[in-house]
Amino acid sequence: METYVGIDIGKTNLRVAAGGLAPGSAVYFKRTYERGSPEQMDHQVYQAVDDILAKGETPKPSLASIGICMPAVVSRTSGHIVWGPDFDFLRGHSLTKALEERYGVPVAVDVDSRAASWGEVWAGIGRTCGRFALVTWGTGLGAGMIVDGKPYEGPNNLFAEFGHSVVSDDDWPCSCGAAGCLNALVTGPAIAEHGRRAVMAGRDSIIKDLCDNRPEAVTSPMIFTAAERGDAVALAILGRIGLLLGRLASNLVLTFQPEKIVLVGGLAERAHWVLRTINETMRKQNWLIFKGQTECEVVASALGDTAGVLGAIRMAQEKWLRAGRGHSS
Ligand SMILES: [Zn+2]
Repeated sequence: METYVGIDIGKTNLRVAAGGLAPGSAVYFKRTYERGSPEQMDHQVYQAVDDILAKGETPKPSLASIGICMPAVVSRTSGHIVWGPDFDFLRGHSLTKALEERYGVPVAVDVDSRAASWGEVWAGIGRTCGRFALVTWGTGLGAGMIVDGKPYEGPNNLFAEFGHSVVSDDDWPCSCGAAGCLNALVTGPAIAEHGRRAVMAGRDSIIKDLCDNRPEAVTSPMIFTAAERGDAVALAILGRIGLLLGRLASNLVLTFQPEKIVLVGGLAERAHWVLRTINETMRKQNWLIFKGQTECEVVASALGDTAGVLGAIRMAQEKWLRAGRGHSS
């Protein structure tokens, strides 16, 4: 039976999964990686592919295709990074060429948020819903737009990018070059920054104790810990995050009337802190909803941070089918 391998290269972790045509059979692991030379990166990816194939107890020859994704604009044809400020060390290097040569199989590549969209289509919310939006909430804020069961594919290797929408007057800088976009205000590093500013402003909060009164030591888990203990400052920070994401959700409903908006990514397991505010904000601000013209619900993904790597498997299957391999077996 053919095996498909998915690889999701994050900013610090490498996620790898292998499976067949049905999502339930996939095996998975996550490990950190070293940011060295492109050759070193290739070697770490090879090791991960070999290890996942061994884990699935599948002999190498049955490998049909590989899908790979990362948080960068990547050429879907050559595998080169077109734009990726976090991946300067891979500049000029093709993510797919070395894999194709080593394993002799087709390799599909795309941005991680589009891979996560495929993951939800294949193994998550897409099983019961054909029209939805995806928000990857973690160290960044990725986006996906799925219509008729298919993730939107933009021209020039582009994709939905509403994670960089500006929905407030805050002018915090973002790596995209804009000031005050959602990516700068609601992600993991942004949640830490909200806490840091509260400590620096001398706000009465247990965040101050958690960081030993050192603002530079504030992390996003500290904000969630403080919120769990009922800290008013931490709860206000998460309330603000929910409000901003709620405005985004409302804008998405105005744009293309998704039935659901699904939060995936590293922070999705914390979504219960923001979902209520997101849904309340969206319903209060959106005339299509309060006039009963459409309905939408923002929910947390059941796939968590495996959506991307499962989607990479789905991309691999698509590539294999397009290569005409499906007809010969
Ligand atoms: Zn931005």
